[in-house]
Amino acid sequence: MLEIKNLSAGIEGKDILKGINLKVNAGEVHAIMGPNGSGKSTLSSVIAGKEEYEVSAGDVLFEDESILDLDAEVRAHKGVFLSFQYPVEIPGVSVTNFIKTAINQIRKAKGLEDMPASDMLKMIKEKSELLEIDRKFLSRSLNEGFSGGEKKRNEIFQMAMLEPKLAILDETDSGLDIDALRIVSNGVNKLRSKDNAVIVITHYQRLLDYIVPDFVHVLVDGKIVKSGGKELALELEEKGYDWVKAELAAG
Ligand code: ADP
Ligand code: MG
Ligand code: MG
Repeated sequence: MLEIKNLSAGIEGKDILKGINLKVNAGEVHAIMGPNGSGKSTLSSVIAGKEEYEVSAGDVLFEDESILDLDAEVRAHKGVFLSFQYPVEIPGVSVTNFIKTAINQIRKAKGLEDMPASDMLKMIKEKSELLEIDRKFLSRSLNEGFSGGEKKRNEIFQMAMLEPKLAILDETDSGLDIDALRIVSNGVNKLRSKDNAVIVITHYQRLLDYIVPDFVHVLVDGKIVKSGGKELALELEEKGYDWVKAELAAG
């Protein structure tokens, strides 16, 4: 599904990613871990197509096609979802109405008619029940006064409704309390299937106690320096990132 080849990228002349190689197949969950400032968020931004980052070498293929020249919006339409793509606060626009509009905009861009209201309602009901999201939440104004956990709930609901092929969840280093951890991990676990793939980016080993990844990659200073199975997350929890750095230094 996703193939990253020798990717180097940076911002304002600063090199951040320094030759990343990564393959993600449908049905897989990959975790990317690493110390603060190692380039995790930059990697997710480059995959999703945020314009401020400059790619200096390499390529990103999605379903065998380079996506580097495509706008973030077009990538999203192809099925690439980045968490917090829609962090805006919109008073008076509910969680539900926002996602309805987003879905119909994507359909319009693909030359399709609006989703029939009855189908939309059915989908909202299905997904909200699956994720145990109550109706009251769905009628709240988008992001207005949301707690950390509620922001996560909204994000996972958006992901469930948009049904992306590739979801990238960049769990930033703050605000992941137990409630938020549970919401994100339950959501991912319920939404994972043989047809989609998930990349979970986190500084925290703890998240991976809840979302069990198929592969774990450690990013240090813009390079993937170690890859392994889920046991690598446990090893990191025990020994910390300094262990990986020391191993690297020792060659
Ligand atoms: P992580 O998500 O692993 O904490 P980031 O990708 O956010 O790392 O950042 C990697 C490095 O790039 C850091 O040194 C950070 O300061 C720098 N960086 C990221 N975004 C910007 C930006 N917009 N302007 C300048 N430097 C940036
Ligand atoms: Mg950071
Ligand atoms: Mg980050």
